[in-house]
Amino acid sequence: MQHSIPLPLNPAAFLAQHRPDAPIMFFAPAVLQDTARRFQADFDGLVTYAVKANDRPEILSNLVAAGISTFDVASPAEMRAVRAACPQAVLHYNNPIRSIAEVEAGIDVGVASWSVDDHAELAKLDAVPRTAEIAVRFALPVTGAAYDFGSKFGATPDQAADLLRRVVAMGFVPSLCFHPGTQCNDPQAWASYVTEAARIAALAGVRLARLNIGGGFAANRGFGAPDHRAIFTTINSAVKRSFAGAEPRVLCEPGRAMVADACVLATRVKGMRSGGEVVFLNDGIYGGLPDLRDMGLSGLVHVLGPAGPRSGAATPRIVFGPTCDSLDRLPDGLPLPADTAVGDYVMFGGMGAYSIAMSTGFNGYGVGQVEMVCALV
Ligand SMILES: *Cc1c(COP(=O)(O)O)cnc(C)c1O
Repeated sequence: MQHSIPLPLNPAAFLAQHRPDAPIMFFAPAVLQDTARRFQADFDGLVTYAVKANDRPEILSNLVAAGISTFDVASPAEMRAVRAACPQAVLHYNNPIRSIAEVEAGIDVGVASWSVDDHAELAKLDAVPRTAEIAVRFALPVTGAAYDFGSKFGATPDQAADLLRRVVAMGFVPSLCFHPGTQCNDPQAWASYVTEAARIAALAGVRLARLNIGGGFAANRGFGAPDHRAIFTTINSAVKRSFAGAEPRVLCEPGRAMVADACVLATRVKGMRSGGEVVFLNDGIYGGLPDLRDMGLSGLVHVLGPAGPRSGAATPRIVFGPTCDSLDRLPDGLPLPADTAVGDYVMFGGMGAYSIAMSTGFNGYGVGQVEMVCALV
C-alpha cells in the first residue's frame, strides 16, 4: 500500500505556513481529473491532450489517471515527457515542420499520427510505417479565437485536397485536422472547419479515417464559464450533416481548457511606489504571466494579506515583474484592493495553461516550484 504525505488543504493554508518569497504554482490534481473526466463524458469522440499547454510530470500523470491515453506532442522532448508518465501512451505528432532528426525520433517512439501541411514535409515522412495516420492540416480565415493559429500552419483547402490524395497514394491512413485558434468561444468556428473538411474530402475523393478538430476551447478567465457542451453539440451535428454516410471518427486535443482551472499561481508584492500606484511583483511576463500579456486582463485575481483576503476597493495599478527589463510589465496593469501591501500574495486563478510551461529563468526569476494541494479555494 502506498502512503503519501498529506497534501496541504489549499494555497492559502500553504502560504500562511511557509510565507514563500518565490512564485509558486499550486496544482489541484482532483480538479484536473474532474475536468478530464468531464471532457471524455461530454465529447462524442476521442479526447487527447495538447502537451504544450503544460508538460509537467504531475499534470501528465494525473491526466493518465483520469483516462487520457493519447497526447498531442510537438517535439521529441514532449514525446519523452509523455512516455515517462505513461509508457504505452499513443502519440500524435502535430507539429507540421520537422527536421529529419525529429522525424527519426518520432519513428523510433512509434508515433501513431502525423500532421502535414505541405508536400515537402510529407516527403520527409517516407520512412514512416504505412500503418500510421497522416492528417492534413488546413486553415481557414477564422474569427472567434483570441488569436488565430492559421497564420502559421495549414494548407488552403485546394492544397489540402491535393495532399490528401498524395497521403493515400503513399499508403498512409488519411485524415484531416485543423486548429481554430486558442480561447475560442464561437462554436461556428469549428462548424465552418468541419463543413470545409467534408468539402476537401469530397474534392480529393478520399474517405477520411478521422477528423481532428483541434483544441482551442476557452478556459474560464473570470468573465463567465464557457459552454463546451454547446460547442461539442455544434461540432457533432456539423459532422453528421456534412459527412452524411461517411462520417470519420472525431478527436479533439484541448490544451488550455483541460488544465487552466487546475492551477493557481501565487505571486508576491515585492515593492510599491508612487503611493501604491506602481506595484512590483516577484513574477511577470518572463515567468508565469505571459498569457496575461496575450489574452488580456484576468478576472480571477485576488490578494491575500497576513490576516486573509484583502477587501479594499479595486484600484488600478501599474504592475511590473521582477526582472530589470522594462518590458517586464503587465500591459493592462491590474486592479488590486486599496489595502494591498508589500509582502501580500497576489493570486492568479486559472493558470494551469501556458504559464509554467512558458516560464523562463530570465534574470534569475521565474516559476520553479509546483505544490500539489487538495483544493484551490
Ligand atoms: C496548441 C495546440 C493545441 C491546444 O490548443 P489550446 O488552445 O490550448 O486548446 C491543440 N492542437 C495543436 C495542434 C496545437 O498546436
